[in-house]
Amino acid sequence: MKRRDFIKTASIGGLATTATLLAPSIAEAKAEFKWKMVTAWPKNFPGLGTNANLLAKMITEMSNGRISLKVYGANELIPAFEVFDAVSNGTAQMGHAGAYYWKGKSEATQFFSSIPFGLSGQEMNAWLYYGGGMELWREVYKPFGLIPAATGNSGTQMAGWFNREIKSMADLKGLKMRIPGLGGEALRRAGGTIVNIPGGELFTALQSGTLDATEWVGPYNDLAFGLHKAAKYYYYPGWHEPGSTIEAMINEKAFNALPKDLQQIVLVACKAANMDMLSEYTARNNQALDTLINKHKVKLLPLPDEVLKNLKKLSEEVVLELVAKDPLSKKIYASVSQFRDQVSHWSEISEQAFFKARSL
Ligand code: CA
Repeated sequence: MKRRDFIKTASIGGLATTATLLAPSIAEAKAEFKWKMVTAWPKNFPGLGTNANLLAKMITEMSNGRISLKVYGANELIPAFEVFDAVSNGTAQMGHAGAYYWKGKSEATQFFSSIPFGLSGQEMNAWLYYGGGMELWREVYKPFGLIPAATGNSGTQMAGWFNREIKSMADLKGLKMRIPGLGGEALRRAGGTIVNIPGGELFTALQSGTLDATEWVGPYNDLAFGLHKAAKYYYYPGWHEPGSTIEAMINEKAFNALPKDLQQIVLVACKAANMDMLSEYTARNNQALDTLINKHKVKLLPLPDEVLKNLKKLSEEVVLELVAKDPLSKKIYASVSQFRDQVSHWSEISEQAFFKARSL
């Protein structure tokens, strides 16, 4: 029997006992790695949870079952905000979350989700893969025994749901808002109160008045949570998350225990899932936005320029203070800000100019 046929038969029939008859290289190839993937999202949540499912499915199928990967939603094995620790200590071999949730571990993690007024989704991937971003990210996670990978990107998010109109900076004063990361700190400096809760609790918090406002992701994900039933105004653009990367993290010891081909399968699957999410969000956000406006009569509004300008100034203050006190953040910021300056020029004369031309 040809090797390919044998593997096919074995995977269907589960002929594990014959593994001993194989040459060592084939026996190794048939070894089983039973991995767990813990996530920061409700199980099967559109886009985020389903990306974790897709990633697990790709790794399992591309490895012909040599790695089996079981996905756990938030609170199934551990709570959302314990993903980092669970993968770091080996409770799970993989995690699926957002890097800015871990600023308590290292402030520098925040650069690998999205920084306010930073990079768009496409620009973020360009920085990670071709601008030195991935190397820096690995450096930040290394002390925790973790290997990071980008596994999705939301594209430009929405500024969020508000139960009051935002006409000037004064309207941000006393606003109780869920907004993570550096953008949250900028909003706090604008007079807001930041409440940090997982996505699954947003609807209730907004409806009960624990929150006056919340950002989540964009139309596709926000519609799934029904946030339009809890707040009247839907603001854009997502200044705080212009192109957020979703991360996969891999326990380093578990990764190192894999043969080279399986290591490549894990990393390549993450890259494929990363591309998949940005495409999916681009397609589904516009469908969902249409539903929100035309079916649910949501009031869609832009944040006033004056508010955006002030939030930009506050965001810069926040980032520069962080950079001044944390050497690792300083090193990453030098890389990402130089990249942003260069890519901004290109983006202006390519996509921005084209979008303008298309709407003439
Ligand atoms: Ca968000």
